[in-house]
Amino acid sequence: MKYAFSSILFFATALAFGQKDPESREQNQPVPPFRIIGNLYYVGAKEVCSFLITTPAGHIILDGGFAETAPQIERNVAQLGFKIEDVKILLNSHAHLDHAGGLAELKQKSGAKFMASAGDAELLRKGGHGDFRFGDTLLFPPVVVDQIIGDGESIQLGNQKLTAWMTPGHTKGNTTWTTKISDGGKTYDVVFAGSPTALDYKLVGKESYPGIAADFEKTFAVLKRLPCDILLSDHGSFFHSEKKRERLMRGENPNPFIDPGESRQFVSHFEKEFHEKLDLQKKAVTSPTPSPE
Ligand SMILES: [Zn+2]
Repeated sequence: MKYAFSSILFFATALAFGQKDPESREQNQPVPPFRIIGNLYYVGAKEVCSFLITTPAGHIILDGGFAETAPQIERNVAQLGFKIEDVKILLNSHAHLDHAGGLAELKQKSGAKFMASAGDAELLRKGGHGDFRFGDTLLFPPVVVDQIIGDGESIQLGNQKLTAWMTPGHTKGNTTWTTKISDGGKTYDVVFAGSPTALDYKLVGKESYPGIAADFEKTFAVLKRLPCDILLSDHGSFFHSEKKRERLMRGENPNPFIDPGESRQFVSHFEKEFHEKLDLQKKAVTSPTPSPE
């Protein structure tokens, strides 16, 4: 399984240029909105995801992309025949500029209540200032959290329930959301996995934040035990969104987004990547002098 997208490369370039760099612009390319399954829709850009869940009592949006993605998301919601004013709840995977950047505008346009984790609330309120790795360099429009959601806590809108699972490491409050979506007489477990990548974080010695390595281990354990028929995440490439969208548009049946094995592959891929980083850093500590070759 290939995960072409390099978070580290992205963050390195974003660090220097913000959203205006070519890779960020590429991630922010518009794609047509579409129904994933049941009352769950894709309203994000090419790589930075945003999901819409509709109910008769109003709608939920998870993630706002970059600040520059918000107008696309609004257009996408309208194109699907829904009203942004009917969005009652806004959620976030984590407080980085490519997923939280558009939230302030979406909150203002919709009047929705913004719910997020305690671990990311301050970073969201400060618009990215004081990030444990990026300092004051990866900023986004600040957004106030109206309601803190704890680990294992659920929110409900109409008949739709979503549950938050703390999957810290990538940010301190990185959140995985789960829900159930019904379609064609069946009900599916849907997981919106929070980013599982350790970027260039320090995991050994003076950690990027105390306990970060243990947090990642916890995150992989949590992700492994969540039942999952449909895996989604905050980056399209993490769950091969483009390919599945094309297959879906071709009318493939069963729906290509239904793949009960994918979550396991996703977790083992990123867990392996994490342990490789951890081992490299451990080796660097135990043998500080490079071998002569
Ligand atoms: Zn991130």
